Amino acid sequence: SREADLIAAVPKQLFINGQWRDARGGRTLDVVDPSTGSVLTQVADAGIDDGWDALRAAEAAQPGFAAVPPRERANMLMRAFDLMHERKDDLALLMTLEMGKPLAEAYGEVNYAAEFFRHFAEEATRIRGNYQTAPTGNARFLIAKQPVGPSLLITPWNFPLAMGTRKIGPALAAGCTSVLKPAELTPLSMLALADILREAGVPDGVVNIVVTSTAGDVMEPLIRSGIARKLSFTGSTAVGKKLLEQCAEHVMRTSMELGGNAALVVFEDADLDKAVDGALMAKMRNSGEACTAANRIFVQRSVAEEFSRRLAQKMGEYRVGRGVEEGVQVGPLINATQREKVQELVDDAVRSGATVLLGGEPAAGEGYFYPPTVLTDIPEQARLRREEIFGPVAPVTPFDTEEEAITAVNDTEYGLTNYVFTQDLNRALRVAEAVESGMVGINQGVVSNPAAPFGGIKASGLGREGGETGIEEFLETKYIGIALE
Ligand code: ADP
Repeated sequence: SREADLIAAVPKQLFINGQWRDARGGRTLDVVDPSTGSVLTQVADAGIDDGWDALRAAEAAQPGFAAVPPRERANMLMRAFDLMHERKDDLALLMTLEMGKPLAEAYGEVNYAAEFFRHFAEEATRIRGNYQTAPTGNARFLIAKQPVGPSLLITPWNFPLAMGTRKIGPALAAGCTSVLKPAELTPLSMLALADILREAGVPDGVVNIVVTSTAGDVMEPLIRSGIARKLSFTGSTAVGKKLLEQCAEHVMRTSMELGGNAALVVFEDADLDKAVDGALMAKMRNSGEACTAANRIFVQRSVAEEFSRRLAQKMGEYRVGRGVEEGVQVGPLINATQREKVQELVDDAVRSGATVLLGGEPAAGEGYFYPPTVLTDIPEQARLRREEIFGPVAPVTPFDTEEEAITAVNDTEYGLTNYVFTQDLNRALRVAEAVESGMVGINQGVVSNPAAPFGGIKASGLGREGGETGIEEFLETKYIGIALE
């Protein structure tokens, strides 16, 4: 079958110094299809020695790569962009198989992921410094940008391709070499990308891909070594905090894209159809397995019942199934643990008095499916009022005043994104400025865009990816002071 052929063809080894090779210990790990629970294939499982090999390769390649002209680095990124489009069918299917998302969404992610390469290809030749007269007049400041150096990149399983290109793109554009460790649950997308990077002309050792089931053991010594000068991490806040401590040892530069607890606020003056569509995007994209997913939906009281009814009706029409099947809109969750977590949060809410408008019970049969679920009347003490759900569960809570809504939105340790639906421009701006988050969507349920700065405040992280700022994360500023005779 096409699926079996594709799995057979994908690289399954470590990509170190431009070579494909097994883990030194010969270990492998299983990659599972979450829609069936069965093993798709095995891939090499790196140990500490392999991690060192990868970092040494990145270290050795750094001076040479920093000297590659920006235009050439841009060309590599553009070729990789083109190759991703040429191979979009394979990349999308591979992603659906290992991660579960519906094919249509996988195609969307291939496109989104490739866009980071195009964006940073364009940025690579626009790295600018400055020349400035000192206020005293007797000196000049030359301000230059230099690559930060070898970088460690750690990515999660929910967007297996885009979270990689969002880091590799700016690293390459800035002239940094890297070791990327994808999530062990979804390594195939990044392994396929390694082939593309090689074909695009990225020199040996510049990007190294190391898959491991023992991320903590393999990465900690590398971080603590001080050889890498930068860590860019996307994942949970708990792991991010641990990594920040490790980075403190050598005062490494960090970019941290951590958890979120997005609120979606619908005011009574909103276009309700658009608000429902926006909520569907913000909630159902990636089956809710996104740090930008609307986790808390607040609706002004006069339209709350109508909104909940329409949302439940639309979510009830979503087709759940294997992502590879035509017309499927909701795939499985990533694994059994994730599904249990979602079920626990729903059970806890229901036990404490929430009303189930839709769903609420996991599906029987193979695969880690969870049905679209809508809850209302959720008591204050329910865990899902505070915890990240990471599933297709929409909790709807009414509010009365704008002030009350803002307080509710900000009542969380997170601050990644929020969404606001209103037709009143003044209100939109007032609320956008008052909510504590790195991003705000106004009358739209998606904020991710390679050309915009993605990132959070509070426990949602440090730094921004994409936009003009994305490349800055991989650049150091050097000020050269010149005395004038
Ligand atoms: P998620 O909830 O998305 O799985 P994690 O933070 O557990 O978030 O995982 C994100 C990435 O961080 C994955 O690639 C995972 O392997 C990696 N990771 C998990 N624990 C550690 C650790 N102690 N050190 C380094 N990387 C880790």
